[in-house]
Amino acid sequence: ELPLLSVEDLEVRYRVTSGWFGGADVHAVNGVSFSVAEGETIGIVGESGCGKTTLGQAILGLTGISAGAIKLRGTERDRARRTQLQIIFQDPQSSLDPRLPVWRLITEPLHIRGGYTRKQLIERATELAVSVGLRPEHVDRYPHEFSGGQRQRIAIARALAVEPALLVLDEPTSALDVSVQAQIVNLLLSLQAERKLSYVLISHDVSLVRHVADRVAVMYLGQIVEEGPTLDVLDAPRHPYTRTLLDAVPSFDRPLNSIAPRAGELPSNRTLPTGCFFRERCPSATAGCELPQVLVPADGSRTVRCHLVTRANDTALPRTAPRP
Ligand code: SF4
Repeated sequence: ELPLLSVEDLEVRYRVTSGWFGGADVHAVNGVSFSVAEGETIGIVGESGCGKTTLGQAILGLTGISAGAIKLRGTERDRARRTQLQIIFQDPQSSLDPRLPVWRLITEPLHIRGGYTRKQLIERATELAVSVGLRPEHVDRYPHEFSGGQRQRIAIARALAVEPALLVLDEPTSALDVSVQAQIVNLLLSLQAERKLSYVLISHDVSLVRHVADRVAVMYLGQIVEEGPTLDVLDAPRHPYTRTLLDAVPSFDRPLNSIAPRAGELPSNRTLPTGCFFRERCPSATAGCELPQVLVPADGSRTVRCHLVTRANDTALPRTAPRP
């Protein structure tokens, strides 16, 4: 069966035209491939600057792609299919026009499509509002009358208005109070079960990814360095970068990028390193790391981009030393 979404050898480069790096190309996404089945969630994790947000925007068509393909059920995503893909941003505040009542916000995509009466739009908005846990009378109110969690529910209802097959969730709970994060997560999980939605969850929150994602892809400098079943990757990381990243998080409740990995800064994505991208910071670097690395199958259905990791040498890599 064809996967719902497949991302194939995706590259995204863009030119920065001002500031310190004026005129330089940013290599944001460098050959990313993965697929998502119907009803499945893939988590995308990595430090800020690893390309995960650009990847999410490229899937949606919000940023152009330089090479590769994005396919929906095997067919190149075009304008008509784009509504199959919707995005939920971190901060619903910035995506909801404060001058519009909730019914109008929720049905904005249908309004643009045209062919609906005002009465139909209000009815549809009411149904959608109820499906995300709001009350029917909420549709006549304005965004400022709601809490952050309720505004995120409004944004979710709007994304559902066009009956998408997949949502990109870009840090969907990180702007919310801890007390409401779980409610939004539970809402997303129940909507997924009801509607067979697929999710691409972009997050620095390992506990969220652990709870929600079926598979996880770890990104470093615009590449996937490790991908596999969530618990396999998080409980027994194989790539040295994944290990460094998780070792840097004393508790899974800490955001990944709250502590820098111990060896050095993230190299610039303006001039990509030669050989393994992680070479300068890798505690296990050795001869052979000067060569470009490809994703190879490791245990189970996991793939890892490191020549030291193969099916055979399961324990060849030492865990990086615990932090003092
Ligand atoms: Fe480290 Fe070498 Fe593996 Fe890269 S290829 S992750 S430098 S051991």
